[in-house]
Amino acid sequence: MTLDLVLKNARILLPQRGLVPGRIGVRAGRIAVIADEAEALDARETIDCEGRVVLPGVIDPHVHFGFGSPETDFETESRNAALGGTTSVLSFHRSKDIRDSFAEAHDRAVSQSCIDFGFHFGLTSHLHVETLREISEKFGVSSYKLYMMYKGAAGLAKGFTDIDDGLLYAALREAAAIPGAVLGVHCENVEVIPLLRDPLRAAGRDDLKAWNEQSPDFLEAENVHRVCYFAGKTGATVNIVHLSSKEALDEVRRHRRTPGRPPIHVETCPHYLFLNDESPAGPYAKVNPPVRGQADVEAMWEGVLDGSVTTIGSDHVPRKRSTKDKDIWSASNGFPGTGMILPILLHEGYHRRGVPLERLMQVASGNAAQSYNMPSKGGIEVGKDADLVVVDLDLEKTVDAAVLESYADYSPYEGMTLKGWPVRTLVRGRTVALDGKITEDARREPGGRYLRRL
Ligand SMILES: [Zn+2]
Repeated sequence: MTLDLVLKNARILLPQRGLVPGRIGVRAGRIAVIADEAEALDARETIDCEGRVVLPGVIDPHVHFGFGSPETDFETESRNAALGGTTSVLSFHRSKDIRDSFAEAHDRAVSQSCIDFGFHFGLTSHLHVETLREISEKFGVSSYKLYMMYKGAAGLAKGFTDIDDGLLYAALREAAAIPGAVLGVHCENVEVIPLLRDPLRAAGRDDLKAWNEQSPDFLEAENVHRVCYFAGKTGATVNIVHLSSKEALDEVRRHRRTPGRPPIHVETCPHYLFLNDESPAGPYAKVNPPVRGQADVEAMWEGVLDGSVTTIGSDHVPRKRSTKDKDIWSASNGFPGTGMILPILLHEGYHRRGVPLERLMQVASGNAAQSYNMPSKGGIEVGKDADLVVVDLDLEKTVDAAVLESYADYSPYEGMTLKGWPVRTLVRGRTVALDGKITEDARREPGGRYLRRL
């Protein structure tokens, strides 16, 4: 049996076994064999990994492709993702009536993405909830996001009139009736924020810490409680997206202890594991929920280690630097990050904190495949897609936005030197990024596939 590809001289991260020296054989985009280094495998192409580590591709379950340049984001941002070892993303699709808008978004992404991708639906109206089963089944989408921070006046500014606790409850009830469905919720109590924000602004504050102080941890935790409580009453599986604080994580832990309740997933982000509110990145690191103090950074790592954190999503928003070059109150929200997940986990997690690679890749890949119904992804096993990242654990590089391929022309991590980078990213056995560059082949023929998850 001739294989399409063999990766030899690899140290392969295998489930429950850790790093094992050997070879991976790929046929028709899938892992066909995992063998000893001594075993002869016949293949059309051989890659010598020179003793480097091979990890499963990162699955980034939280990107906002389309917030930068809607027409071309899937091209530029999928490249940005691939450079950092991300081989699948789940992006958000939001419109007035998803039944009418989805096909176009899907087709554009298929023509542009060099990595595999799926979508979550953004739920902002009762129409979305009423049509949830229909759009989920028709388009193969099993996860959604509801934005508690677009309630009331904050929602009206964006044209959302329906977001309140009633919509939350309705969405939970509907999601509970769809097998395998997960409702993600943005948790911040937006009704309290102005009371804390206005005095900070009036006092002339213009710093990242003030952005944290206007929406402190307990406003996140309060929303987490409400979501978990209603989820328990409706039987829905929920996902607390971009969780940022110890206070909120403890609230999840408390609810998880209730016997018989449905699962609560927790997603945190690379920035909550790596940046704090004293970061010199200032407005470039402005995001909702805010980056917190160092104690919360430590708590997020504790959550990664003890399994309280399920997945890591980047919350990637690829806007231009000009939208950030402002005071903290007027700078845009969010920043690019999808290609930074693995370098940050390797630098801060593996090297600085001694977190085992198995644990890092469980939260950066395996758990996302499981909770989002992507059985062909998430690990190096025979039969799964050959989404693989060859990593040089000792390689040190300084983050430079100019080479990151994103539509965003900055990075909050710019100028930081990180240790541990991907040198080759393969999507279903095809090299799309090599030595910090997207291959010509992947530029010409993106080849990313849509992940139907229901
Ligand atoms: Zn959000």
